[in-house]
This record gives sequence, C-alpha cells and structure tokens, in this order.
Amino acid sequence: MMKYSFVHRDDSYSRQIKDNLIKRIDGMIDDTNPDIVFTIGGDGTVLDAVSKYMDNIEHILFVTIHTGNLGFYTEFLPSDIDLMCHLIKNGDTEYQSYPLLEISIDGHKRYGLNEVTLSNTRHLLETSIYINDEFLMKTRSNGICVSTPTGSTAYNKSLGGAVMDHQVEAYQLTLIAPFETIKSRMLDPIVLSKRNKLTIKPLTGHYDISCDRCYIEENSINEIDITLSDKKVKFMKNAIHTFTSKLKDKFIGQ
Ligand code: NAP
Ligand code: MN
Repeated sequence: MMKYSFVHRDDSYSRQIKDNLIKRIDGMIDDTNPDIVFTIGGDGTVLDAVSKYMDNIEHILFVTIHTGNLGFYTEFLPSDIDLMCHLIKNGDTEYQSYPLLEISIDGHKRYGLNEVTLSNTRHLLETSIYINDEFLMKTRSNGICVSTPTGSTAYNKSLGGAVMDHQVEAYQLTLIAPFETIKSRMLDPIVLSKRNKLTIKPLTGHYDISCDRCYIEENSINEIDITLSDKKVKFMKNAIHTFTSKLKDKFIGQ
C-alpha cells in the first residue's frame, strides 16, 4: 500500500486541501517512511519538505501543490488536483529530478536544493576561493552564494547571477556586495560544471552559513567544499508548466 505524508503551510486553505487529499488518495499516512510527500504552500514549503526528508530523499516522490505565490518547485494548482489524483491512482506519474548541492563543512556533510551561502552583513567577509584545490582569488564582500540550477531563480538571481535551465548539470557562484578596489579584484558570477569542486576558506571570523532555509552561526571553520551531488530530488511533473512558462509567469507577466 502506498505510504504518504504532508508538509503544508499553516493556513486554513492549505489545511483544507490536505483534508480533501486524505479522503481521495488510496494508501496510508506514514510520516517517517513515505513514498510520496505532498507539499501544500509555496517554494519555501517545498524547501522545508526536502530538508525534512533529506536522509531518504532518493526514495521519495514530491508532489507539490501551490497555495502561495507562484513558485518554481510548485507544479500543481488547487484546480489541477482532480487530474493529479487521477494520475497518481493510475500510476501514471512523470517526474523530473533536480540535483542537490553537496556541502562539506570541515568534513560534515549537508545538502541544499536552492543554495548555500556564507555571509557577514556587518563587516567585510574575506575568503580564499579554490577550484579543484587550485587557488583562484581572494574575496572581500558581504558573502558568497553558491546556487543549484533550480536555485538560480532565487537568491542567485537577486545577486546578478544567471537564470539556469533546470537540466544543466552545473552550479553557480555569486558574490554578495563585493568590495572591489585596486587591491582586491574579484570575478563573479562563475558557473562550474558538475565534476568541479569549489572550496571556500574564510579568512575572517563571525559569519552565518545558510543552506536553503537553515542557518548556522560559525566563527572557526577551516573550509567549505561544494560540488553538485549525484543525489537528486524527484518532483512529479505537470506537463502544462514548462520552464519558459514559469519564467514568464513569475518574472515577465502578460
Ligand atoms: P523568503 O525570504 O520568505 O522568500 C524568498 C522568496 O523566494 C519567496 O518568494 C520564495 O517563494 C522564493 N523562492 C524560493 N525558492 C525559489 C526558487 N528556487 N526560485 C524562485 N523563487 C524562489 O524565504 P523562504 O521562503 O524561506 O525561501 C528561502 C530562499 O529565499 C532561499 O533559499 C533564498 O534563495 C531566498 N532568499 C533570497 C534573498 C534575496 O533574493 N535577496 C535573500 C535571502 C533568501 P515562496 O513565496 O513560494 O516561498
Ligand atoms: Mn517564503
């Protein structure tokens, strides 16, 4: 029997959709070992769900229903629920996989679907950046953002990074307010292909590390290693939403 669970935004509309789905989906609720996780909310809700189930991520199909502002990870509108239930019932689901960032903070691993950032908004954060252990540059900025293709339309975009097609096997570095002078010259944005390892060594203390919606305060790490992981997240696809239509609907209009 199919096992499923929910991660939803805590408003009455999202709860109502959850109650409705419980009545319609064959299977049983299993919050620890689900085959399908329904998210009801916006992209932030999807990020929460992915982080909650990270340990078992490759065995889960995420079905994302949108009740917030238009999202990039949210595939189904409340008006698509009849069709969605029909497809699930008939085992007729198609999915798309999106890669995660693999982040190693002094050897401690974590994974991010949108991005990882290292930042200090009060002082200039100084770092050294290496690609495949080869020194590239020092940075002086409020921080560094390293984004996945699907994260490219989030923080990365606000930092002047490029929007990336979701199927590109690459990740992108951008700087947060780089302080460029004759003595400190920097290069960004930089897009790296999957097999490259990016290393960030902080040279000054007191910074926040964020990974999607999670934050940790730190002041004494040696290095962060980042690659695009082989681990991927599976999202049930809604054929009518193309990448182009999402870009147009969210950023252009008309
Ligand atoms: P938030 O501060 O509540 O809002 C971030 C906004 O980004 C929300 O509108 C969210 O959509 C949207 N978003 C999230 N992932 C996206 C994606 N992959 N493509 C396009 N839009 C996306 O933060 P949150 O909801 O907790 O989301 C965390 C994300 O916020 C972080 O991963 C980071 O990318 C982003 N962020 C952006 C900035 C910035 O642009 N200056 C600063 C900090 C963080 P929903 O409303 O549907 O949730
Ligand atoms: Mn949000």
